[in-house]
Amino acid sequence: MDKIQLKTRAKTEFVDITSEINQIVQKRVIKEGICHVYVPHTTAAVTINENADPSVKKDIVNELNKIVPWNDSYTHVEGNAAAHIKSTIVGSSASIPISDGKLTLGTWQGIYFCEFDGPRHREAFVQIIKSE
Ligand code: ZN
Repeated sequence: MDKIQLKTRAKTEFVDITSEINQIVQKRVIKEGICHVYVPHTTAAVTINENADPSVKKDIVNELNKIVPWNDSYTHVEGNAAAHIKSTIVGSSASIPISDGKLTLGTWQGIYFCEFDGPRHREAFVQIIKSE
């Protein structure tokens, strides 16, 4: 298992971790398999979306903030209920098939670590599972 460590810089932020994950996949030198990315945090997530036009991630963050406003009638006393809700909506893991030794990401796809209660030190686990 490999670990990516990162330092987020904003309250809500999408950090592109595609190149770090590509490096891990290349280091493993497997032909076919699955790359599983998991975020062990309750106020962060991982997702796959466009990384060519930066306005896409900006729009996603803006809309998530509208759907789940920071202040509402939440009961969670820690004050970060919105971050927990966004973490559950987006999800704590992503799996990408590996074919011919490479992630099968589409031309416009990238893998994002999603921060919802930053800035903080964070991590993501990457497990490569070999298949036939
Ligand atoms: Zn909390």
